[in-house]
Amino acid sequence: MRLRHIKGAEQQIAESPFVIHDPEEQKGHWRDVFGNDHPIEIEGGMGKGKFIMDLAAAHPDVNYLGIERYSSVLLRALQKRAERDLSNIFFLCIDAKEMADYFAPGEVSRIYLNFSAPWPKDRHAKRRLTSPVFMEVYDSILKPDGVIEFKTDNRGLFEYSLESIPAAGWDILAHTFDLHRSDMAEGNVMTEYETKFASEGKPICKLVASRSRQP
Ligand code: SAM
Repeated sequence: MRLRHIKGAEQQIAESPFVIHDPEEQKGHWRDVFGNDHPIEIEGGMGKGKFIMDLAAAHPDVNYLGIERYSSVLLRALQKRAERDLSNIFFLCIDAKEMADYFAPGEVSRIYLNFSAPWPKDRHAKRRLTSPVFMEVYDSILKPDGVIEFKTDNRGLFEYSLESIPAAGWDILAHTFDLHRSDMAEGNVMTEYETKFASEGKPICKLVASRSRQP
């Protein structure tokens, strides 16, 4: 999702109390940001943030961080955030590929990747959020028993991920090619893209992975 640049977006983001403006300074100190030692869960590429805000509302004993690299999209999330009474979520305007610059080893419990771009051309494979480059980043910030949850409507990206994730030294703990008609549907929180694709009758793929080699 890349929206037309919105005039003043950077300024509004800079002034928002819901955005962490100096994330590199919080590396290793995220518990101070939240004022507690609850587990930290991240969505990489949150878009307008419905999914991660719904999770934050449902789980007040978990801390959430939504990552979005485009200011125009983050601004939409901030508008929605202002309508909600949540104390356990902040947003970061960064590239998910740089997460190791902002989180210490073992600081994160779970990473959600929802409907990220498929980048179908081979020469763009490194940009896929489940490519070895990204798996290495997740490896460097997750707790030893930390998990990745990945949802997509794109069968090609999903099949690629079913190979790339184990090749990077992770176990696929569970997966389905049709989430909404599977055992994994219980407790599923829908994202904006998921709602759209499901309404078009597209099956949603999901996998959950953790590291087979403990760091
Ligand atoms: N997760 C949301 C959902 O399921 O409704 C949004 C999906 S949208 C297709 C993907 C979002 O991820 C876009 O807003 C895009 O800007 C963001 N994104 C893609 N790659 C990213 C990256 N490397 N770092 C941060 N955000 C990224």
